Amino acid sequence: MRIVLDRPRCEGHGLCEEAAPALMHLDDDGELVLDREELGDSETAAANAAVRVCPVAALRLS
Ligand code: SF4
Repeated sequence: MRIVLDRPRCEGHGLCEEAAPALMHLDDDGELVLDREELGDSETAAANAAVRVCPVAALRLS
């Protein structure tokens, strides 16, 4: 499973980082960086939480 960012949609709220800090972070410019794109089974729950919490639906799993 992969986590995919729709970058133009992302507004840098950072809520996803709070939900899944091991998978993504905001850089110094407020741009979201995906640290892990290919997800292991143990990361699925955190990835789902990040997808759900994003207020502009910029993240999805594929
Ligand atoms: S919560 Fe959504 S809008 Fe905010 S940084 Fe994450 S992906 Fe971007």
